[in-house]
Amino acid sequence: MTAGAELRRDLTPTLLIGGEPEMGEGRAAPLLDRYTGAPIADLVAATPAQAARMVDAAWAAFRRGAPGPWDRGAILDRAALQVEAARGDFIAIMQAEAGFTAADAGGEVTRCVQTLRLSAEEARRLSGDVIPLEGAPGQAGRTAFTLRVPLGPVLAITPFNSPLNTVCHKIAPAFAAGNPAILKPASATPATACLLARILVGAGLPEGFLSVLLGGPAEAGLAMADPRVRFIAFTGSTEAGRAIQTQAGLRRTQMELGSIAFTILAADADLDRALPKIVGAGYRKAGQVCTSVQIVLAHESLRAEAAARLAELVAALPYGDPRAEGTVTGPMISRPEAERVERWIAEAEAAGAVRLAGGGREGAVVAPTLLDGITPAMKAGCEELFGPVVGVAPFATLDEAIARVNATPYGLATGAFTNRLDDAFALARRLEVGGVHINETSSSRVDLMPYGGSKDSGFGREGPHYAVREMTEERILTLTA
Ligand code: NAD
Repeated sequence: MTAGAELRRDLTPTLLIGGEPEMGEGRAAPLLDRYTGAPIADLVAATPAQAARMVDAAWAAFRRGAPGPWDRGAILDRAALQVEAARGDFIAIMQAEAGFTAADAGGEVTRCVQTLRLSAEEARRLSGDVIPLEGAPGQAGRTAFTLRVPLGPVLAITPFNSPLNTVCHKIAPAFAAGNPAILKPASATPATACLLARILVGAGLPEGFLSVLLGGPAEAGLAMADPRVRFIAFTGSTEAGRAIQTQAGLRRTQMELGSIAFTILAADADLDRALPKIVGAGYRKAGQVCTSVQIVLAHESLRAEAAARLAELVAALPYGDPRAEGTVTGPMISRPEAERVERWIAEAEAAGAVRLAGGGREGAVVAPTLLDGITPAMKAGCEELFGPVVGVAPFATLDEAIARVNATPYGLATGAFTNRLDDAFALARRLEVGGVHINETSSSRVDLMPYGGSKDSGFGREGPHYAVREMTEERILTLTA
């Protein structure tokens, strides 16, 4: 596929109803290339009747039951091989519909393969506990163990900024746990999700175990309204998460929401080590990552040096066309989003921040930008920015840095560069976040680890080992001799 070309017919997004492709019959909208703005495919949403058939198919599959653990693992392992084989197609699709560089798109593919393999392992080893009932008075001759049983149809609702691996983090553990899934991908990036879904079906997912529901919040709501949907796995904005949780009622959910991600440079931080990592984590995917470094909290003793050296690195970042060799920062997901970020930069500068690099915008491309002197009074200092802009702010004591992070409503992940064990443990104990990464940035993630937030960043944990537990429930079986 070349720049602006239409998606190949076999890569065009369509619904999947219980595993069978079908054209949507609802609202139509063009799917756009994020850099050129050219339409690359027609995107047709599902109708209420089509969404209802997806829930029917998932429910029937749940009633029939999933293949056994060995077979589920084999299907997921086969899918991992096929995703690797389709690497080129995935990269071309993500460059078009997400505006990702080849490096960012390739990273999604590598991690998706890993997530599928980890999910296969979890399918095979999902187990319960042995409960020593005889340890209680009067229970001689009795024992018990727990079985982990699938919850039922899982609705996965996913965002644009991780169009492959976040989708995989929902639907692969759902199947590993024995649940059918209905996937509602972001309307900006459905083609990547559709290719993954087709690969899973081709790898042997039985009838009814996967449907793809194209559309927006209204279409997701159609599936959610059916009580046979038993679990909702959501990644997206905090605002959407609140609306979904309200509709979910007593059903279980996994909420991976918004964030303001900080990375702390302690007084002893090794800047040679820290600064390239901060640049890598602040500007890839045009800063549209929930753990992107938004604010660097730099100890006052090294703030000036850190800011000056960061400015040099940021000013040298190639940006623009995601298909051009070497581009690090491609376009944002839309021009209105890029205009919003441009306004936030201007607002911060008007309130006293100093722009050390970047600042320009052309179409959906915002130049990688560095602002010094960010405060909580500025939008860029108190709301999720989700763009290629990093702010620097000083602190005097570690207590002050911890208080600054904890003062936001969010709590996803924080990075900190220090070699002092006492400081590392103080940060780990006192930061109100889902992950603390010492000598890494806030954006450090390995797919096997538990990943999720606290406070307004959500709850529940991704990572196949943890997700399969959330998507199953424990049933106790007691045996009396
Ligand atoms: P978004 O919330 O606009 O949309 C996410 C998905 O939810 C889409 O599929 C959308 O159609 C659907 N949706 C939106 N409102 C809905 C509603 N009321 N009911 C049902 N479905 C609804 O988010 P986005 O712009 O695609 O992604 C960016 C956001 O995602 C950022 O806030 C980012 O921090 C967050 N995010 C969080 C994580 C994490 O792990 N915590 C990871 C990636 C992205």
